[in-house]
Amino acid sequence: MRSTMQDFPLTLTSIMRFGVDVCGDSEVVTWTGDGSRRRSYAELGERAARLAGALRALGVDGDQRVATFMWNNAEHLEAYLAVPCMGAVLHTLNIRLFADQLVYIANHAEDQIVIVDGSLIPLLAPILPQLKTVRHVLVVGEADTAPLADAGKELHSYEDLLAAAPATFDWPELDERSAAAMCYTSGTTGNPKGVVYSHRSAYLHSMSICSANAMGISATDRVLPVVPMFHANSWGLPYGALMAGASLVMPDRHLQAEPLVRLIEAERPTVAGAVPTIWADVLRHVKENGADLSSLRIVPCGGSAVPESLMRGFDEIGVRIVHAWGMTETSPVASMAHPPAGAEGEDAWRARISQGRVLSGLEMRVVGDEDKVLPSDGEAVGEIEIRGPWITGSYYKDEDPEKFHDGWLRTGDVGTVTPDGFLNLSDRAKDVIKSGGEWISSVELENHLMAHPDVLEAAVVGVPDDRWQERPLATVVVREGAAVTARQLKEFLTGLIPKWQLPERWSFIEAVPKTSVGKFDKKVLRRQYAEGELDVQRVD
Ligand code: AMP
Repeated sequence: MRSTMQDFPLTLTSIMRFGVDVCGDSEVVTWTGDGSRRRSYAELGERAARLAGALRALGVDGDQRVATFMWNNAEHLEAYLAVPCMGAVLHTLNIRLFADQLVYIANHAEDQIVIVDGSLIPLLAPILPQLKTVRHVLVVGEADTAPLADAGKELHSYEDLLAAAPATFDWPELDERSAAAMCYTSGTTGNPKGVVYSHRSAYLHSMSICSANAMGISATDRVLPVVPMFHANSWGLPYGALMAGASLVMPDRHLQAEPLVRLIEAERPTVAGAVPTIWADVLRHVKENGADLSSLRIVPCGGSAVPESLMRGFDEIGVRIVHAWGMTETSPVASMAHPPAGAEGEDAWRARISQGRVLSGLEMRVVGDEDKVLPSDGEAVGEIEIRGPWITGSYYKDEDPEKFHDGWLRTGDVGTVTPDGFLNLSDRAKDVIKSGGEWISSVELENHLMAHPDVLEAAVVGVPDDRWQERPLATVVVREGAAVTARQLKEFLTGLIPKWQLPERWSFIEAVPKTSVGKFDKKVLRRQYAEGELDVQRVD
């Protein structure tokens, strides 16, 4: 029997129409440091139409790539709508990557246009001459464009182009499976790989994050994406907010704890997403200076494991962190950690500190040696594989068959899945420490260490060991004004983890090196150790 339902495509255009037409009074707010700029979604819709018209006039056609080199702000949101909805492909460039990686990525994606925030011109200028396919650069805001002048590209003022373009655009009918946006993985080894989202995948991901098992976003919410719009589409928060008609509060370049707290107090967001390091800074700031974060009803947090101490610290100030897991390849949100019905006390906490329950529509499994599928019994440890309509099935122009397994994505994350779908990660496959044939979870050690009151940050990596092949090295950043010794920390860990897992190598460092998206960069720590740059003490 054939269904009688209309075959209506799932596109970002449909999300845009609801946001700007039905919820035209909602707004996008951009923080300026001491105040806010505001634009209604109705205005946003008109400006997106003008941008699409301007891009078309510059020759953007078909699925050409339009890159952004921008902070989280209203103009970036305009590109988020205009570019995919005109049929082109939005390519968000990560402003924190090293120059050679950016050059590689922009050339690999064959970007035609770059839209750049004026404040980021100094970062773009040195690489622009090497971006072979880029023809035009659109500069947002008042800025000195002189550093871009000799790159052989046509420069335009974003506002002038918008002013000259028509106020409406004839949005094309799009195939839901066509490419809408792309993002390169922030992987710390090899060249970054391109993930291409379709309209359909972005639509389904938006519906999923708006659902109550995820973030439950509705038209009464005000959503603050702190996570950059160049990192996995800011966890899909912008499209999710538009789909729900929720307003967006954008931090622009003000990402330190103090301005963020002022922004939260002034604009009273209800949902705010950021990685654990940002929230740890915010918590410290709030504890030292006090602040009113009571507008926040949910803080989705992920990107790396959220320490339990951070969640408990937020509970104490009345803000609920909900742990989420995902990756660029999974659009990115794939699981969120809400306790199941009836779970209370420690049971609820067990669920909350897990990486969460798989979202409806996706499937997860645990795979062991020789690609053997292991039971999802909460005990069997293996690599997590995932599949579903917003999980990538390949990389752009890169054959990488070892990342896929019978239609499943190999995540590179190691852990267990419970029968009721809760994921507990113990490590990245490459970060697991193998000591005398037994696995030590670097993440577990880090979480225990970061629960110590004197420890600000801790990262644990495996280092070569003659006897055990590999042993953990604990690198620790001590809180300002605190004094703690390696021996005391080792004693603190005793009883929390098996004795054989206790690190004997310790190093006190100024700060844990971070990747372009704020994760601990363990590759750098391993290199520093190998080259003798770390001051290592032994506590046997
Ligand atoms: P990215 O593609 O940059 O978002 O990185 C994805 C990777 O970040 C995942 O494969 C995990 O290793 C890590 N990650 C993301 N969320 C979490 C989490 N909640 N807990 C632990 N690791 C996480």
